[in-house]
Amino acid sequence: MRDDNCIFCKIANGDIPSATLYEDEDFRVILDLNPAAKGHALILPKQHAANLFELPEEVAAKAMKVAKKVGTVLAEGLSCDGLNVLQNNGEPAGQTVFHFHMHLIPRWKGDVKKIHMTWEPGTLTAEDKEEILGLFH
Ligand code: AMP
Ligand code: ZN
Repeated sequence: MRDDNCIFCKIANGDIPSATLYEDEDFRVILDLNPAAKGHALILPKQHAANLFELPEEVAAKAMKVAKKVGTVLAEGLSCDGLNVLQNNGEPAGQTVFHFHMHLIPRWKGDVKKIHMTWEPGTLTAEDKEEILGLFH
């Protein structure tokens, strides 16, 4: 299913041209127009889902296979020192385009001055632990 008002639907399905690194029946992988680093790529499913919660399970599973395939070529080809695979759901989590996508961000030693993905580590409280374990058991 596509959403006519969604830019990533248009890009993923080839209605808007993009720098495409990889394409198959279900996905297109493109270069990010405002890269955090050289080689920053986005994995876009061709079907519309706003976020991970809306994405069918089998498409979610396949997205990780595409991440491995394309991430490996990027990492070897660019000789980077690391690679972030990240994915934002919802505005508070940093999502700005509401069509599911996964970021592949090649990383080099010392680039933390330019790329910030850190948080202030907290402490797991007994209360939180019980509450969250209770969601699963
Ligand atoms: P997020 O903040 O996780 O929603 O990421 C959205 C990403 O999409 C950002 O890294 C943008 O630079 C990128 N982006 C937005 N529009 C385009 C576009 N037309 N082509 C390529 N990348 C885009
Ligand atoms: Zn879409």
